[in-house]
Amino acid sequence: METDTDIPLRNLPDESTCNVVIIGGGPAGSSAAFWLASNGYSVILAEKKLFPREKTCGDGLTPRAVRQLTDMGLETSLASFHKYFGLRTRAFGKELTLDWPKIPGLPEYGYVITRYDLDALVLENAKAAGARIWQGCEATEVSTTEDGVSIQIKDKQRDTYISVKADYLLIADGSNSRIGRSMDVKRDRKLPFALAIRGYYTSSRSHDPYIESQLDIYSHDGTLLPGYGWIFPLGDGRVNVGIGLVSTMAKWKEVNTTHLLDTFVEQTPASWGLGEKNRLSEPTGGKLPMGMSNAPLSGHRYLVAGDAAGLINPFNGEGISYAYESGRLAASVLSKAVRYDNPSELTEYQSLLDLHYGRYYKVARLFLQLMGKPNLLRVLISTGMNSKTVMSILLKIMANLMTDEDIGIAETIVKTAQKLTEAIPG
Ligand SMILES: Cc1cc2nc3c(=O)[nH]c(=O)nc-3n(C[C@H](O)[C@H](O)[C@H](O)COP(=O)(O)OP(=O)(O)OC[C@H]3O[C@@H](n4cnc5c(N)ncnc54)[C@H](O)[C@@H]3O)c2cc1C
Repeated sequence: METDTDIPLRNLPDESTCNVVIIGGGPAGSSAAFWLASNGYSVILAEKKLFPREKTCGDGLTPRAVRQLTDMGLETSLASFHKYFGLRTRAFGKELTLDWPKIPGLPEYGYVITRYDLDALVLENAKAAGARIWQGCEATEVSTTEDGVSIQIKDKQRDTYISVKADYLLIADGSNSRIGRSMDVKRDRKLPFALAIRGYYTSSRSHDPYIESQLDIYSHDGTLLPGYGWIFPLGDGRVNVGIGLVSTMAKWKEVNTTHLLDTFVEQTPASWGLGEKNRLSEPTGGKLPMGMSNAPLSGHRYLVAGDAAGLINPFNGEGISYAYESGRLAASVLSKAVRYDNPSELTEYQSLLDLHYGRYYKVARLFLQLMGKPNLLRVLISTGMNSKTVMSILLKIMANLMTDEDIGIAETIVKTAQKLTEAIPG
């Protein structure tokens, strides 16, 4: 990120005017607000909810996400939360414990933190950096002109409307992205997405130093499903338990995720002590737009980041890190556009996203197509579970903790599997 102390910012006549208005105070919006405000730009972030607020999520942060939080100066604030060191994975009666790999520039640990706590922390950090945070304020309408952007915001507590004028807009309003859709950002319907559901339970293993995943999950008729179940320990007496499924399978529309979660909970190892009696609240679910499935991600005077851009990692359903990263990339591009008073700078954003994620997401999307074939899925998982080395490589691939060379290996593996499925019908 460049700084620009020597270049004067434009005059900003009143308090509802700014360089960049951001819609949404989740990971994408708060990260962008932090980076823009830290570099001296004037930012208004409108968030429709009052923080801290619940957000349906698995609450799992990988080393990639921790790196982003550290870069935002938040490492010491994380210390009171639950740190974990890798993944315990189970399938077909086997179990492997895999540590996070050693990767230059990344920690060898992650955290499990509720979004209730995490998002409030990151939003507060953006405020401390100088961003104006308007909570309880919902953006209802956006229009762009040659000179700037005009946003209608409903202050829900006062029941009044405020009109904000800005040079640029960042849309970071999450997976449903009403504002993104109003600006004609569309999901490519040929590409898969995922559905996930989670609930909180009490467990005596809440301090477990590993997160856990179950790779063989089944529908009521015994079909192996493309997805996984998880138990993520929060270190405070609770665990986050959930299940995620990809839309590449046959009979996708018949799946009832609530029933699947109940079945998964019943089958978790007894040592976690999970059951209906220690469920803390009704499970909630959501849709995961994945693999850079949305477009266009830039337009005249606006950019789109995080889930609104469809940036979740298709391999593992991780979206927090990609929201922080895309918010940061968007901030760098928006800074230049403001500084040079040149909206055409925004076209660089898509190239940056392609550079960071293009090749990886292409491989991931291929992988998802393969996952929709239960027989192949069974062979791949059961073969992998025989070797800790293979599963450690897979963990690296799935969490996107790779070098360019590693992506080449992943590409070869997925393409070979694809050729096999074409050669062996059924
Ligand atoms: C069940 C489930 C489990 C998941 N588990 C994980 C996990 O363990 N790890 C992980 O990394 N990812 C996980 N994800 C994905 C992750 O939750 C998202 O990728 C992440 O929240 C994206 O951040 P975001 O900032 O783009 O959007 P969000 O976090 O959705 O934030 C968008 C914000 O915009 C606000 N907003 C919306 N519309 C408006 C408006 N008009 N005006 C003002 N404000 C508005 C919303 O209130 C919200 O606060 C999971 C998702 C689900 C559904």
